[in-house]
Amino acid sequence: MLNNPDPAAVRAAGQPDPWRINVDLHCHSHFSDGVLAPAALVQRAHANGVQVLALTDHDEVAGLAEAADSAQALGMGFIAGVEISVTWGGTTIHVVGLRIDPAHAALVDGLASIRDGREGRARAMATSLAAVGIPGAYEGAAAYAGNPALISRTHFARFLVEAGHCESVQTVFGKYLVEGKPGHAPHRWATLTDALSWIQQAGGVAVLAHPGRYRLDQVALWALLEEFREAGGAAIEVITGSHTRDQYRRFAQLALEFDLRASRGSDFHSPQESRVDLGELPPLPDSVVPLWHDWADVMKHN
Ligand code: AMP
Ligand code: MN
Ligand code: MN
Ligand code: MN
Repeated sequence: MLNNPDPAAVRAAGQPDPWRINVDLHCHSHFSDGVLAPAALVQRAHANGVQVLALTDHDEVAGLAEAADSAQALGMGFIAGVEISVTWGGTTIHVVGLRIDPAHAALVDGLASIRDGREGRARAMATSLAAVGIPGAYEGAAAYAGNPALISRTHFARFLVEAGHCESVQTVFGKYLVEGKPGHAPHRWATLTDALSWIQQAGGVAVLAHPGRYRLDQVALWALLEEFREAGGAAIEVITGSHTRDQYRRFAQLALEFDLRASRGSDFHSPQESRVDLGELPPLPDSVVPLWHDWADVMKHN
């Protein structure tokens, strides 16, 4: 591999250390299924010591301008991002796009087409819940959606907790809203090819989000990583709020094997619901190549 930094040499030379800068490249505002406004999210990240933050709302870029303004006012680094819903091999995966131009037409149109599908899906989810004696779920979920164009399973989960059907948002996903359970509606998201193409056309780089979360066997996971890299994917999330410590190690190893860079992000949604707060994650292991090691706009915040 060419031009990959050596942590020992970087530290011996006293250069800015890409393994130690506190970057958080995955989180959500109320423009998707987070609960905080972009400005409040940025302030919280700054208070937690985050040096560079990316806002990555699901299928939506509407919160980026507010977040960028807030970050600039605080002197904190900011990266425009998005988390795109993809259907691959019959399963849902998420691809994070970073350093995107949020106004690029191909990306804007692609994301709008994904959001358009969410309304009908939400109606079908509500119908399925009504069939097991839970009425009013569409209206209940919609009341939690900060962005009427983006109604997600998280909003249904909040409604199910409020209505007394579950103790917490996390436990909802064991009983409802997943395949084989009430409230699940099958859905086709974007293709992997389209998602990567939109990100690349918008000048961004693609990161495979929380790869440990997908229920894929070893063969399918390898096929996904291979296809992702062949399509121009740049990195996988190694350190994420969705991974266990064993998964940190496993995906660090896979990043090396597939010659992909590594990313780090909390996937923070809410102070009440999220296990990991903004920026409060271990650093990337020295064995991987940080996605941002040669990004001057990030490294200047070190
Ligand atoms: P959707 O894009 O509408 O399918 O909603 C997906 C969102 O649901 C994810 O981004 C998470 O925020 C949330 N979610 C999915 N599975 C879980 C889980 N097991 N625990 C907590 N939140 C989950
Ligand atoms: Mn989410
Ligand atoms: Mn995700
Ligand atoms: Mn996410």
